[in-house]
Amino acid sequence: MTNAFPPNQQFRLAARPSGLPRREDWQFHEEAVAEPGEGGIVVKVLYLSLDPAMRGWMNEGKSYIRPVAIGEVMRAGGLGVVIASRSPRFAVGDYVTGGTGVQRYWSGQADDKTAGFIRIDPRLGNVTAWLNALGMPGMTAWFGLKEVGQAKAGDTVVVSGAAGAVGMTVGQLAKAMGCRVVGIAGGQDKCRFVVEQLGFDACIDYKAGPVHAALKEHCPQGVDVYFDNVGGDILDAVLARINMKARIVICGAISQYNATDKVKGPANYLSLLVNRARMEGMVVFDYAPRYAEAAQQMAQMLMEGKLKSVEYVVDGFETFPESLNLLFEGRNLGKLVLKVADA
Ligand code: NAP
Repeated sequence: MTNAFPPNQQFRLAARPSGLPRREDWQFHEEAVAEPGEGGIVVKVLYLSLDPAMRGWMNEGKSYIRPVAIGEVMRAGGLGVVIASRSPRFAVGDYVTGGTGVQRYWSGQADDKTAGFIRIDPRLGNVTAWLNALGMPGMTAWFGLKEVGQAKAGDTVVVSGAAGAVGMTVGQLAKAMGCRVVGIAGGQDKCRFVVEQLGFDACIDYKAGPVHAALKEHCPQGVDVYFDNVGGDILDAVLARINMKARIVICGAISQYNATDKVKGPANYLSLLVNRARMEGMVVFDYAPRYAEAAQQMAQMLMEGKLKSVEYVVDGFETFPESLNLLFEGRNLGKLVLKVADA
């Protein structure tokens, strides 16, 4: 039976990858869009947020969220427009963000807790900022830096993954708070960008030479806050340079996500003891009740030109498997976003 909607296309998880995900780990699936029932909506997905965390969700085992099941539509954040509504919560034409999954259309109850749709204002700069500075990565930067990192004016803040979604917002927020900010990123172009365009004080190209020596040069007063997005050897190098009572925010460890061997832990952890320092993990979803408060302040900063939300947009739903891997190849400058359709 056909309905008024074009066919839905999805990427479902076909197999749990070992190492970097391959095409065969995904199943391309086509099916009809379900007609919305009473209280239901249909969302046409315009953009998908491609996040390093998606790699973790493909693994079996206990984590902060259940793994995506084999045969299930891949979990992803998305931004779309409501094209059918039988709910008073959303009208046709409303722009929303939420957990759409890797598909062209989402259909279900408007108040679905897993999807968690919220209405957004598409006129506020680039609409894709709602998947970046005003979305999950921005919230991670905001609460990670302020609540977990306890950053304050005068601190030296080091952030890895500095030219990525979370890292570039961490650096800009820290600068706005009066910190000295040193980024760590892969390649000259990324380093130049965060210094010249985003106002970082310095940036270390970890691919060009030893990070330890560069930290010594760029953080002569030591490191008060390290916002860690990458883990591995870079975490060890920073641990060797921390100050008394330093705060290390364990946000992510992308260098380890595709490891087929054991995850590499920090050998320099005794530096925490010597310096009475703290290393603390964070999961952004814990701060969900406070997103609106942070997003409002960040929207203000965007409008005043005090914050830039930079997105790296790749076009084409069908490129999803290869596009996701761009994160692990370091090809994105800014937030990696997959464009699915025009409004
Ligand atoms: P992103 O930084 O925009 O993109 C990933 C970047 O990681 C790449 O561009 C690449 O940049 C770098 N990278 C890739 N492989 C690497 C390696 N082996 N060693 C060092 N760097 C490597 O991604 P994002 O969305 O902002 O996420 C950044 C981190 O935050 C991830 O670890 C993610 O899992 C984490 N995160 C955590 C939470 C939470 O709630 N805890 C929420 C959001 C994100 P280079 O070219 O610079 O290498």
